[in-house]
Amino acid sequence: MTEARQKVEGKRQTETASEAETAAAGEALGRHLRAGDVVLLYGDLGAGKTAFVRGMARGIGANPDEVTSPTFTIVQEYAGPSATLYHVDLYRLEGPEIDDLGLEDLVSGDGIVAIEWAERWKGRPDDVTEVWIEDAGEDRRRIRVNGLPQAWL
Ligand code: ADP
Ligand code: MG
Repeated sequence: MTEARQKVEGKRQTETASEAETAAAGEALGRHLRAGDVVLLYGDLGAGKTAFVRGMARGIGANPDEVTSPTFTIVQEYAGPSATLYHVDLYRLEGPEIDDLGLEDLVSGDGIVAIEWAERWKGRPDDVTEVWIEDAGEDRRRIRVNGLPQAWL
């Protein structure tokens, strides 16, 4: 995976061939995240966003076994030694419901926030790391990251 990483149009890109590799990419990013960081994730259902966030949790030192899909709970928390990861999934929500979640407070707090289906949140901030995951055939996924900590690559 490491060899495949490259800079493309200002974004960093990698390809993975399994869910475990996608989680490992998330873990690599997670190791560089700090309290207050916000990560917005984009990609179709089944792209691997939740797998990536599960890896992020491991990267911040949280127990990955406590990371599950937040599809039914909206926000899940995973406590690491120096920061808590808040994992938000907007998949089933409409505009007014999203407005009522208090995401502004969450992203201006001192946790690390990861948001799946972030495009549904019209008020999302600019100073964020963005992750796009797309199908690249069979079990392959192309992951592009923008605005991430320099050390990720
Ligand atoms: P999302 O949160 O984007 O809807 P999930 O992470 O919940 O996606 O699910 C991704 C699905 O795709 C899982 O069933 C996983 O096993 C499968 N998969 C196959 N190849 C990959 C890959 N390279 N990376 C991530 N997931 C993969
Ligand atoms: Mg998901």
